[in-house]
Amino acid sequence: MHVTIWNEYVHERSDEAVRKVYPDGIHAVLAAAVGEQLGAEVTVRTATLDQPEHGLGQAVLDETDVLLWWGHAAHDEVDDEVVARVQQRVWQGMGLLVLHSGHGSKIFQRLMGTGCMLRWREAGERERLWIVDPSHEIVDGLDAAYFDLPQAEMYGEFFDIPQPDELVLISWFEGGEVFRSGCTFRRGKGKIFYFRPGHETYPIYYDPNIRKILGNAIRWARPSGSPYQIDAQHCP
Ligand code: ZN
Repeated sequence: MHVTIWNEYVHERSDEAVRKVYPDGIHAVLAAAVGEQLGAEVTVRTATLDQPEHGLGQAVLDETDVLLWWGHAAHDEVDDEVVARVQQRVWQGMGLLVLHSGHGSKIFQRLMGTGCMLRWREAGERERLWIVDPSHEIVDGLDAAYFDLPQAEMYGEFFDIPQPDELVLISWFEGGEVFRSGCTFRRGKGKIFYFRPGHETYPIYYDPNIRKILGNAIRWARPSGSPYQIDAQHCP
């Protein structure tokens, strides 16, 4: 299985507080997490905004089974042609994990068809992630009813997404808000998982529960069968 991790890689180079948590970039920590969870099952590659075609040329995408997307400060700088190419690959069956502030990315908004906006507050609050679909393979191996992150950025409802196909996790925050933190969608032949945790100034991608969910979600989102070809067929 080929996994590509895309990170805009902006904050880690411009903000000391972020660099402290992710000195080699969020993509490097995500790559390590995926390697740790899936081992020999997976070949991991990373791609960043500053690379030609943002590191997401057709050949890379054609080879990618599951794409992880982390962006925040530079959504608008992502080329529309690349976004269209990613969308096409999702329709053909490539899995897509959209992480945290990726809710505001062009690719997520385009695939959802909604604004994908939400409430937020950066106050280092405790987050409790409740598992609301314990039979789902994305939460395999998480045996408690919930787990906590000691410090997180708050995201609250209303989260402007279509009704998810499945709701796997709901977050509660110290300030009282709740949020649909783990949602699945299907578009064409592709499976999409939106996973909320991951603000750049907290060490969330080092958390063992978060890493387990990422590994499970990649397995869940991997394509089955041959790519679905979208034919340009019209009524005569
Ligand atoms: Zn954030």
